[in-house]
Amino acid sequence: MKNFKAFVLEKCVENKVTHSITDLNPSDLMEGDVDVKIEFSSFNFKDGLAVTNTLPIIKKYPMIPGVDFSGTVIKSSHSNFKKNDNVILNGWGVGESHFGGFSQMARLSGEWLIKLPEKFNFEQSMIIGSAGYTAALCVLRIKDYIKDIKSDKVLVTGASGGVGSIAVNLLAKMGVKVTALSGKDKDFLYNLGAEEVINRDSFEISEKPLAKQKWIAAIDTVGGDVLSTIISEIKYDGIIASTGLAKSHELNTTVFPFILRNITLAGVDCVYASYEKRLKAWNFLESKLDLKILERIKSNKGLSDINGLSKEILAGKIKGRTVINVNNY
Ligand code: NDP
Repeated sequence: MKNFKAFVLEKCVENKVTHSITDLNPSDLMEGDVDVKIEFSSFNFKDGLAVTNTLPIIKKYPMIPGVDFSGTVIKSSHSNFKKNDNVILNGWGVGESHFGGFSQMARLSGEWLIKLPEKFNFEQSMIIGSAGYTAALCVLRIKDYIKDIKSDKVLVTGASGGVGSIAVNLLAKMGVKVTALSGKDKDFLYNLGAEEVINRDSFEISEKPLAKQKWIAAIDTVGGDVLSTIISEIKYDGIIASTGLAKSHELNTTVFPFILRNITLAGVDCVYASYEKRLKAWNFLESKLDLKILERIKSNKGLSDINGLSKEILAGKIKGRTVINVNNY
């Protein structure tokens, strides 16, 4: 069996994490009933946390990070998949406790895979990647909760990032009035469909438990005092989908908005979302996402760029989505 390349993280004696692009043999892979030749992965915030060891994302070493990929089945004993099927993977601990997508090959459980949606090619599916699929989960969460989502403003934070940019476009395509909160250039967000863009520097952090009611719903990717401010600004009966911590994992708030304004704070996780939820999210992306924006939001990188990308993403410097071509190393 032929060797393949992978970006591997190892922990040395002093607990320092090192990285290298390594030649591996298929016999080095972990257990699974499906072998996949990977074409593309993508660079997600969690990969930045993992590669820099900022949070304990990696559960064991050595590990191949990369929480998503698309590719072709080369061998399968799982009843849902056969040789030459095109598949995508998001989450399930891949790139954390099971070898991940920054590799030319993967072996994993067929239970974790879904078929590549027909409308997307390998690269497009990874421009969307875990961030875009999470954006779809967030949009569905608020859409299912608010009966007339088009009647009022919806706020998206970290709007130029992976989750934010896809969420802005999905909402805009549904006819929703989107306000984007961003530290980047406004035109990028207007082009994705935002109706209004608030510069991060002019967003006032509120310490009041109840501030002026502004949004019927919000998708928050940054956490911390931005999320606590939004909680105090959500309108009566409104909802916030909380999915990220790009600013902070901390949250200081009061019960007042919950008990006096009937608001909901809904957590959204993509990693262990059920098969049905995944399918619904990918179908939604197929039907609603503007394919033209994928070219505008993408950057192409290879395995050798991963370490540098990790630092950039944690510094909030990345705009849109970064695809990793695993054949570029
Ligand atoms: P990105 O790095 O692509 O985007 C994050 C964006 O947040 C940045 O581009 C920036 O946008 C904004 N931001 C960064 N730092 C700060 C800061 N200090 N203060 C305010 N805003 C900041 O990441 P993703 O969009 O891929 O992911 C966003 C978050 O969602 C991450 O925390 C990630 O871990 C989480 N996530 C969670 C998932 C889940 O299953 N729960 C799945 C996927 C992602 P701008 O300049 O426009 O403000």
